[in-house]
Amino acid sequence: MEDTPIFPDPPVVTVERTLAIIKPDAVHRADEVMEDIKSLEFSILNQRRLRLTPEQASDFYAEHYGKMFFPSLIAYMQSADIIALVLAKRDAIQEWRDLLGPTNAVRAKQEAPDSLRAKYGHDQTRNGLHGSDSYHTAEREIRFMFSESITEPIYHGQDATDYLQSKVNPVLTKALTHLSKQKPEDPLTWLAQWLLDNNPNKPKVTEVDT
Ligand code: GDP
Ligand code: MG
Repeated sequence: MEDTPIFPDPPVVTVERTLAIIKPDAVHRADEVMEDIKSLEFSILNQRRLRLTPEQASDFYAEHYGKMFFPSLIAYMQSADIIALVLAKRDAIQEWRDLLGPTNAVRAKQEAPDSLRAKYGHDQTRNGLHGSDSYHTAEREIRFMFSESITEPIYHGQDATDYLQSKVNPVLTKALTHLSKQKPEDPLTWLAQWLLDNNPNKPKVTEVDT
């Protein structure tokens, strides 16, 4: 019989981050939006309140440059403070987009009355909330709003498996082997201490008197 590996391949984890914005027309209802976000079981990883300059608003919406609605979009986005939020959840990008409903808040009120844009938006331009539309857009937009914070991508699928297999499993296998031999009274505290003492990223340095 084949040995059962101590650490089978982890399931494919698709926890994603997305950028949400509470836009100028909804910012006075930010508390309510945040309550909705929490009750929908998104984690809020980061948040900031800011006022975009016209240049920043144009950069953020660069893909729409030259469209008829671009000037009114930029005027609206820089008209008052906004709140940028990094949301995390399994399939966060698509789920947040689905919850927002149609881009046009008037249509949202008619066709998707339970959607967030129906609840917080007003019209075609002033639609209350933003959500990134793809993985790459989300990464770009998070970096745009939170350039000072480290935004390493979350590993997915094979990348997550590779990461755990190369960085975590070898150390844990060694630790658990020692643990099973030692059989300490409080195995979790023992394990925690062993990991602190044997962290390969922090090799022990022996001080030498000079
Ligand atoms: P989103 O991804 O659903 O936010 O929509 P888009 O990326 O297509 O557009 C960006 C933003 O521009 C929207 O959220 C609206 O605020 C505004 N917008 C989009 N389409 C129109 C339009 O046809 N007319 C007007 N006035 N504003 C629009
Ligand atoms: Mg968009």
